[in-house]
Amino acid sequence: MVEFVIPAPEVPSVAVAGHVGRFPVRRIFCVGRNYAAHAREMGHDPDREDPFFFTKPADAVVDSGATIPYPPLTSDLHHEIELVAAIGKGGNDIPVEAALAHVWGYAVGIDLTRRDLQAEAKKAARPWDWAKGFDNSAPCGPLRPVESIGHPAKGRIWLSVDNETRQDADLSDLIWPVANVIAFCSKAVRLEPGDLIFTGTPEGVGRVDPGQQITGGIEGLGEISIQVGKR
Ligand code: MN
Repeated sequence: MVEFVIPAPEVPSVAVAGHVGRFPVRRIFCVGRNYAAHAREMGHDPDREDPFFFTKPADAVVDSGATIPYPPLTSDLHHEIELVAAIGKGGNDIPVEAALAHVWGYAVGIDLTRRDLQAEAKKAARPWDWAKGFDNSAPCGPLRPVESIGHPAKGRIWLSVDNETRQDADLSDLIWPVANVIAFCSKAVRLEPGDLIFTGTPEGVGRVDPGQQITGGIEGLGEISIQVGKR
């Protein structure tokens, strides 16, 4: 038993639909530009370049239904609705054909982004950390276990702000499906149980202002709703 010199931090976690028990979060990996139309809207040509990844701190997760404070350092907070895969079985160099067996469940998540800081980082060739990995930047709805819903590969993925639809696409538009994303990610790091992978967002990303309500969902997987607080 390890003894700590200060109280050990709590383990971040996400809810599991229909269960009292929660899913412990170890790390959060996110894929950039995984829908062609979104890559284009951000000024890139999506001709199936390998996926690239960035991370968020594990304690950036927030349950659906929460009110989050409008984050500091930005005046251009953006929403990105995403399918989230939760890893239940670890591994490295996982082959595409075996990858889905490593998934414990799926959820609907929002990759909140300080777009103005991201634009500055891109321009200065600096890291994206402050644009992507801030407090409360990874709202994640309740996970649904694979044993109950299987592996969602198609179906509507959408997001609205104050009931105005902003993002409306289909999971089948993913450039790299979940299995490929897991295979690529596990080449770079050893995936472990508790890792979440945000798989990328479709077109229609946009700004959310203080006081607005973000609601999103994926067909067959559920919905997420987050209230953005005052500045
Ligand atoms: Mn994203």
